[in-house]
Amino acid sequence: MQKSPFPAIPPLPDMDDDHFHDECGVFGICRHVDAAAHTALGLHALQHRGQEAAGIVSYDGRQFHSHRAMGHVGDNFNSGDVIAGLPGEMAIGHNRYSTTGDTAIRNVQPLFAEFRFGGLAIAHNGNLTNARSLRKALINRGCIFQSTSDTETFIHLIAISDGANVVERVTDALRQVDGAYSLVAMTREKLIGVRDPHGVRPLVLGKTGDAYILASETCALDIIGAEFVRDIAPGEMIVIDKDGMHSYSPFAPVPNKFCIFEFIYFARPDSNVEGKNIYQVRKNIGVELARESHVDADVVVPVPDSGVPAALGYAQQAGIPFELGIIRNHYVGRTFIEPTQQIRNLGVRLKHNANGRYLEGKRVVLVDDSIVRGTTSVKIVDMVRAAGATEVHMRISSPPTAHSCYYGIDTPESKELMASCMDIEEMRKTIGVDSLAFISFDALYRAVGKEGRNNDAPQFCDACFSGEYPLRLTDRDDGPAPLQLSLLRERG
Ligand code: SF4
Repeated sequence: MQKSPFPAIPPLPDMDDDHFHDECGVFGICRHVDAAAHTALGLHALQHRGQEAAGIVSYDGRQFHSHRAMGHVGDNFNSGDVIAGLPGEMAIGHNRYSTTGDTAIRNVQPLFAEFRFGGLAIAHNGNLTNARSLRKALINRGCIFQSTSDTETFIHLIAISDGANVVERVTDALRQVDGAYSLVAMTREKLIGVRDPHGVRPLVLGKTGDAYILASETCALDIIGAEFVRDIAPGEMIVIDKDGMHSYSPFAPVPNKFCIFEFIYFARPDSNVEGKNIYQVRKNIGVELARESHVDADVVVPVPDSGVPAALGYAQQAGIPFELGIIRNHYVGRTFIEPTQQIRNLGVRLKHNANGRYLEGKRVVLVDDSIVRGTTSVKIVDMVRAAGATEVHMRISSPPTAHSCYYGIDTPESKELMASCMDIEEMRKTIGVDSLAFISFDALYRAVGKEGRNNDAPQFCDACFSGEYPLRLTDRDDGPAPLQLSLLRERG
């Protein structure tokens, strides 16, 4: 296999991270003279959605240009030379945090291919739950895959489609896939954005001057000074070309199943998603938590950064002072030390440190967004107690996370999730807190603007809490299908 011209620098594992991870962020822009530079900025704003790799493909009216690299956007798109190598008024970009496909440059999006109708670049956020089945069927038809990314499935389905034009071909391909996706694609004439019929992952439309923008979150519009136009609707396909913007509804309507975890943790607090400001929703969750599980205490302390808005809401509702009793070091980078076991044992102090005078002698309410494996919670509670807290009460702004996600979020196997093998009392003892409470489903749904959870037809996807998977899990249910690329498994 030909070696990649780019250095493969997979980030070191975060030694103090016990979260689900968003898989990807997407961005697309057309009719802008600085398309690639704006795409780099948009990807920078979406960096929280994927830190493993980033890529941009542009089109200059004659040909496509591509730059894809392992690592952060700021490390790879920070030079004028790179941006100058991506000319044109149309570009799409992608931040990657992989769950499907291994860590290799060939899996970094956008993927690009030449078709009968010309070139097409494509990038998506999500996960196709029948990608293995489709891949197997495509291989049996003679398709040759060059990556292990499920995004390539789209490319082959588009290639073999009999559709009369590119929109019909993309539609034809999308009708064959199951799962969650928000995708952006680009041909020589068109910028295309699509959300899956259930609208699991976010995708928004923005505008600045004559330029249209598609992005995973509104924070990517803010950074380039674009105005938010609207969310792309679940199942909607947007096509922007020289004639303007066209909206299509190529799928039969199905219930909206937006990922409720986007509100709790994945999206950036300054983004507006599904008509809600994320920061406000997280404060609402804190308010609901305080109503449901009040405890007498002296101080409310967030586990930073993700626990901050909920802790603020909790403190305001409970009338208890809010303090930054734990400080997070934002500069725990990918390169400064090797993750030896000795370093791993230092654990949480690499990223978090106790702000002792706000903890000593205090009854502390510790607010975090979720408990995944529980490893970080144990260390943080130890740290808070060591700083002199007399009581530690933990409040979690999500229900217990007991199930894996199959819709584009990097999650451990269910058996590794603390809540899948312990009840709340066992979790409390293991983490070492005086009390432990999670927000209820109804309170969480109230915080997002509903009256409560409709248990007959939940208004969101909440499968990692409830185990009720709203979209078909074809590959999981049909058992593993063999991958074709055994010869190409080396890291590129
Ligand atoms: Fe979001 Fe959880 Fe549903 Fe995955 S399973 S889409 S993380 S709510």
